[in-house]
Amino acid sequence: MAVPVLGLLFPPICPVCRATGSFDGAGSGAPCPECQRSLAGAPLGFGPVPPGLDWVCSAFRHEGIARKALNAFKFERRTALAAPLASLLAARLRGLPPSGNLLAVPQSGVGGRFRGFDPAAAVAMELESLVDGHRFLPDLLRRTGPGRQRGRGRRARLDGADRFDVRERLHGPVVLVDDVLTTGATLSACAAVLREADAGPIGAVTLTRRV
Ligand SMILES: [Zn+2]
Repeated sequence: MAVPVLGLLFPPICPVCRATGSFDGAGSGAPCPECQRSLAGAPLGFGPVPPGLDWVCSAFRHEGIARKALNAFKFERRTALAAPLASLLAARLRGLPPSGNLLAVPQSGVGGRFRGFDPAAAVAMELESLVDGHRFLPDLLRRTGPGRQRGRGRRARLDGADRFDVRERLHGPVVLVDDVLTTGATLSACAAVLREADAGPIGAVTLTRRV
C-alpha cells in the first residue's frame, strides 16, 4: 500500500510542463509523453560555426519547449533531464568524428556554485554512453577567467573575458559539450587553448542555440 499512498500524496510530475499523472517513466524525472513529442519535433538550432571550431551542432533552437526544458534542467536542477535531453541531442548529431574526446565547457564560477551541479558535464557524461567511440574527460578544461555570461553586454562577452586552460596535451578530435550556445565566444575561447594543446579537429555540441 505504501507506494500508491505516496503516489497520491506526491503524484508524479513532468519536470517540463508540470503536468501530473501517471505516464511511462513518471517518477523518474523524465518528461511526460506530450513534452517528449514536442521536444522531438522542436526546431534545430542552426547558425554559423564560431571562430576556431571546425563544426558545431545544436539540438534545438533556444525557444519554446526546448528552452523550457533547458531552464528546468539548468536552473531548477531537474538533473534527471540529463538523460532524455542527451539522447535527443545524440539523435540529432551531425558532424561527429568516428572517435574523440568529450570535454564539458566549464561553468562560470558564480553560476556553477549557485546551481551546485554542472549541466554541461552531466550531458557529456550521458553522451559518452550514447555515442560510440567517444570518451568523456572530466575536468580537463578549467576556467581561469571570470566568465560571467548572464547580465553582461554582448560587447563585454565578446571581449574575451572567458579564459580557460587545459591540464594536459590532447591529440586528436575533441567535442566540446555545453548547454546553450549564445555568442559562441566561450566555445571559441575553449577551442583556442585546445589548439595550443595540439587537439583537433575541434567541434561542439550544445543542447540549445540562441538565434
Ligand atoms: Zn510535460
